[in-house]
Parts: sequence; C-alpha cells; structure tokens
Amino acid sequence: EAAAKAAAVDADSGAPTIFDKIIAKEIPASIVYEDEKVLAFRDISPQAPVHVLVIPKLRGGLTQLGKAEPRHVEILGQLLYAAKIVAEKEGILDGFRVVINNGPDACQSVYHLHLHILGGRQMKWPPG
Ligand code: ADP
Repeated sequence: EAAAKAAAVDADSGAPTIFDKIIAKEIPASIVYEDEKVLAFRDISPQAPVHVLVIPKLRGGLTQLGKAEPRHVEILGQLLYAAKIVAEKEGILDGFRVVINNGPDACQSVYHLHLHILGGRQMKWPPG
C-alpha cells in the first residue's frame, strides 16, 4: 500500500497525461460535450450506466483540486456547470453524482483534474 501511495504521489509530476492526448484528439474518446474550456467524454471503465469525465482543456493545467489557486476559480465553475450540461444531455438530472478523487488516499490515478459524473442507477451513500 505504501508503494502504491508513493507511485501515486510520483504520478503528480505535472507531466502530460493520457487526458492531454484525448484533448489533442491523438487517442480516441467518446465525447459527450466540448466547448472552448472543457471536454467531457465517457469513462473507459464505467462504474454506472452513465459515467462521464469532465476535464479542463487548459495546458500546463491543474493536476488535482488540492493544487487549485485563485486563478482557477473560473475554470472550476465552468467544470461544474459542464457537469450539469452533461447530466441534462444524458437524461440523469433526477439523480447524479459528481466526484473528484483528490490524491493518493482518494485513489486518484490520472493527474489531470477531472470530475466524474455518475448516474443512471440508484447511487449508494456513503461511497467507498
Ligand atoms: P480512479 O482510476 O481510481 O477512478 P481517477 O479519479 O484518477 O482514479 O479516475 C481516472 C479515470 O480515468 C478512471 O475512472 C479511468 O477509468 C478513466 N480513464 C483512464 N484512461 C481513460 C481513457 N483513455 N479514456 C477514458 N477514461 C479513461
């Protein structure tokens, strides 16, 4: 477990991630919504009937929420608003969950800030 944690910490090097390749359209993704600032695409390993990731497009960007600074306030709002647009498009406005896994203790695996939008089934609480 300690080794896994160390690997996850090292992963936040600020280096480009697989999500940068998705933004650049260098690898395929099932895009649900896109605008100037954000991109939303289906998670490759869905944990619910609807599982979409919403990410900022900014380069040299934010690896995790815990590193947000005042200059990120606008994009953080845009990400959350995009989550609503995705939920509306996917027909899950009656019940959806927005999750941000921050850092090793929360099992963050891709160090490019992303919101998970989950829905289409009864969600349980508390999450694991
Ligand atoms: P975790 O892997 O524990 O869910 P994160 O919160 O960092 O941690 O989530 C990264 C998400 O990115 C995972 O749900 C994973 O399935 C998804 N993912 C990884 N690679 C791709 C990809 N190429 N296309 C779509 N989703 C991806």
